[in-house]
Amino acid sequence: MTRVLYPGSFDPITKGHMNIIEQASELFDEVIVAILRNPAKKNQFFTEEERLDMLNTIYSKINNVKVVLEKGAAVDVAELYQCKAIIRGLRSLSDYDYEVQLHQINKELSNNKVNTVFLFADKEYQFLSSTIVKEVLNLDKPIDKYVHPYVKMKMYEKRKEDNYE
Ligand code: ADP
Repeated sequence: MTRVLYPGSFDPITKGHMNIIEQASELFDEVIVAILRNPAKKNQFFTEEERLDMLNTIYSKINNVKVVLEKGAAVDVAELYQCKAIIRGLRSLSDYDYEVQLHQINKELSNNKVNTVFLFADKEYQFLSSTIVKEVLNLDKPIDKYVHPYVKMKMYEKRKEDNYE
């Protein structure tokens, strides 16, 4: 049985992430989607618990996709869940340099135990990022094409809350 880990911030999950998860769930027996606390990213839009709720709602009926919230290094989480590899999505050349570094450091930190598998999102999602979706929301433009309907609802709710603060 081959289990893989797909780590990220998912703030929020976009259809680009969902496209990668779908591909991974077809290629491997089980995909653990891990929301990882990233202390470097301070300005979060959704809390970790809110992100967990969104991912759990979207994937509750998909048997081979499990969602977890963890802290620490991705390689440690991969070992904890006995994952053979880490899945990362590649969009463009601008992702490439950073992702190669991450792959190398993760191999080293895990004593060559954890490899990284790169997947490409379908072309309609290649420009998509969580940041861009938040910007489109701020511009008051439709976000239906970029996020799951549940995430869209939560983003509208969050914007309303923020406007009242
Ligand atoms: P991180 O903070 O680790 O970059 P993200 O949630 O932004 O977390 O992204 C998690 C993973 O998903 C990364 O490998 C990222 O490159 C990939 N990813 C994000 N958006 C897309 C997309 N539209 N197409 C393909 N891969 C994507």
